[in-house]
Amino acid sequence: MTQQADLVVIGGGPGGYEAAIRAAQLGLSVICIERRVHKGKPSLGGTCLNVGCIPSKALLDSSHKYHDLKAGYANHGISTGEVKLDLAAMLARKDKVVDQLTGGIAQLLKGNGITWLQGSGKLLAGKQVEFTSHEGEVQILQAKNVILASGSEPVQIPVAKLVDDVVVDSTGALEFQSVPKRLGVIGAGVIGLELGSVWARLGSEVIVLEAVDQFLPIADRAIAKETQKILTKQGLDIRLGARVTGTQVANGQVTVSFTDAKGEQQEVFDRLIVAVGRRPVTAGLLSSDSGVSLDERGFVAVDDHCRASVPGVFAIGDLVRGQMLAHKAMEEGVMAAEIIAGHHAQFNYDLIISVIYTHPEVAWVGMTEERAKAEGFDVKTGQFAFAVNGRALASDDNQGFVKFVADAKTDRLLGMHVIGPAAGDIIHQGLIALEFGASVEDLQLMCFAHPTLSEVVHEAALAVDGRAIHAIQRKRK
Ligand code: FAD
Ligand code: AMP
Repeated sequence: MTQQADLVVIGGGPGGYEAAIRAAQLGLSVICIERRVHKGKPSLGGTCLNVGCIPSKALLDSSHKYHDLKAGYANHGISTGEVKLDLAAMLARKDKVVDQLTGGIAQLLKGNGITWLQGSGKLLAGKQVEFTSHEGEVQILQAKNVILASGSEPVQIPVAKLVDDVVVDSTGALEFQSVPKRLGVIGAGVIGLELGSVWARLGSEVIVLEAVDQFLPIADRAIAKETQKILTKQGLDIRLGARVTGTQVANGQVTVSFTDAKGEQQEVFDRLIVAVGRRPVTAGLLSSDSGVSLDERGFVAVDDHCRASVPGVFAIGDLVRGQMLAHKAMEEGVMAAEIIAGHHAQFNYDLIISVIYTHPEVAWVGMTEERAKAEGFDVKTGQFAFAVNGRALASDDNQGFVKFVADAKTDRLLGMHVIGPAAGDIIHQGLIALEFGASVEDLQLMCFAHPTLSEVVHEAALAVDGRAIHAIQRKRK
């Protein structure tokens, strides 16, 4: 007998599992199909929980602690003994965090009455879904609605084919069993910078090769400049305008050929991480008569509400246009589930936070100064450094600054940009302010607690009008 459901979700990553849970909360019968097997076990949570956001942050935190301890706390009056690295234990801790979270998602699906089918799903015509179990058994499901949430996978480039544990993608870079002496990274995107930072902190000499000659082109220029300066000081050798043209693996090492302003170059590494972007997973997802269209870049084509070209079929997350971020996938999943359940739902695509989890963190929301100017705004900006913030100084973590971009005509906030301690959390103040259409004055008038890192947010808002207190500023007007 054909199994029926109000909703079949294909893919149990952050987009898919959140969609499934929200739909179940709203009373729908839900089946979620997920085929991932992680370290020998069927696993929910997608790229994010298994090989993305979470394991990378676990290693970023562990490597940060190691690096800090190694540098010593003598200035705090604390002396430590010899600091040793047990990489196997560090990787095991990361795996434990992943296990705990992926197991938690399985519990959440179960608790919400959602059926998890372990295997692959393929959308057929008429909102039927073909499910193939890991054992090869095929079952046809009849869905009233379908959410496609198959996510993304690393882009592979012919000039840097993956070779065992020598030339790896982001997944392999979470599993090095020893600290590479010389590590190459292709791509100075978020993933390349985060993973490069992990191994640099653990002792690798890291060279990042980036084809484009601008650093972090999507970030505000002031933030990108400061980030490049700080990461370079930390030891990341970031080579811009360096396009990799070939790789050769021999005797456990990899020779990377690239061209830059000086011409043809070569570097030899013990390991190479290829972090040149991700692409949507559509192979085997759609039958030829499913009716679902792809866009010119291979993403499933959707409207602002994630509706695909077949009524009742939605697509979300990394599978569709926009930034590949877990929180974007989650919000799209919730939006699609609510629409399917007959509710009104929408998502503000203008306010998606970006975070780079280096140390210090880098985060932004809304418009960069450059974009605001390009869009014709009469722009005013304000910036304030963590350097003189009491709390940041007290905790010895005072690099970076907060910057606001605002409309000089209306005083409305347009964007917030942070490099500094806890930037990934502080940025949510900007998110809330922007979402509520706050003016710079709104922030200026609020009383921020002392001593906190957030006082820098207050001072940056004051600085927009030349009236920051802990800087020598004369009111501009
Ligand atoms: P995915 O998480 O990719 O999940 C899709 C799932 O669908 C997969 O598990 C796959 O097995 C399954 N699937 C695919 N096809 C089928 C099929 N036919 N049948 C059944 N199952 C199928 N984002 C952030 O916001 N913050 C971060 O800090 C961050 N760090 C990252 C670090 C790294 C190293 C990487 C690689 C990514 C990172 N990301 C981060 C990006 C984030 O992981 C993705 O944006 C997010 O996982 C996308 O969610 P999704 O649900 O669209 O897809
Ligand atoms: P992102 O898409 O943000 O993950 O970043 C990937 C980065 O890899 C981009 O900045 C690309 O310019 C860069 N890149 C892609 N191909 C190459 C290459 N052959 N050599 C060096 N950098 C590359």
